[in-house]
Amino acid sequence: MADAAHHRTDSVLIKPADDLPNQPPALTARHALFLDFDGTLVALADHPDRIIVPALLRETLAVLEQRLDGALAIVTGRSLESLDSFLAPLKLRAAGIHGAELRHDPSNPATDVASLGDLATRLNARFAGDPHVWIEDKRAAVAVHYRQAPERQNELFAVVTEIVNAQGSDLEIISGKCVFEARRHGHGKDAAVRALMSSPPFQGRFPVFVGDDRTDEDGIREVQAQGGFGIKVGIGASDAQWRLATPVSVLVWLRAQLIVSGLIA
Ligand SMILES: [Mg+2]
Repeated sequence: MADAAHHRTDSVLIKPADDLPNQPPALTARHALFLDFDGTLVALADHPDRIIVPALLRETLAVLEQRLDGALAIVTGRSLESLDSFLAPLKLRAAGIHGAELRHDPSNPATDVASLGDLATRLNARFAGDPHVWIEDKRAAVAVHYRQAPERQNELFAVVTEIVNAQGSDLEIISGKCVFEARRHGHGKDAAVRALMSSPPFQGRFPVFVGDDRTDEDGIREVQAQGGFGIKVGIGASDAQWRLATPVSVLVWLRAQLIVSGLIA
């Protein structure tokens, strides 16, 4: 029952009267594009491993990356290993684990990440046998997923906070859609955008950030501070100037950039 209610929340498209406009500007060769992955390019599933990546999305990203001379990056909470497994054979510039992993050049490995010790082991031990909770060890972050029991948010947050605080004072907990993530302070999608924008092919371009979740707001504010624009995907408050309803709307907008924008080959 709770699961059905949750899915309904994800799929209903409420558009308030004073909502953000839904036709973002066309991209040009002077833009750099930063894209969140889950909930932005692909629809959320009840488990992160069960998302479906449309072949058309892979093809669109590959062409768009070429038209932007490489100035396209995925900025995700996933590890780059996980991201790559879903986009294969495509390997893009990317920031993983909210910026804890960075890949400036797809032909080089990502910069390495700091370990969180045995935090994942301790969380796994605490939630062993709990059918609603799934722990994902991303090395630089540990995610506690509870998509099958959204009503347990407060209870789970209290337990996770206690365990994370015991692990170290330099850790923070980020709340997403039915997920808590523990990571070290100092990472974030804003820092990821700044790091990528500091060198070619991104440097000197107008950055655009597309994202659906709370951690994406950092990226959206960052690109706007750098003269670009943000696009919020789905319902919910946002500092973005534009809104697209679903990952399908995002794919349609990306496809349109190949046809009607300044990126025509
Ligand atoms: Mg997302």
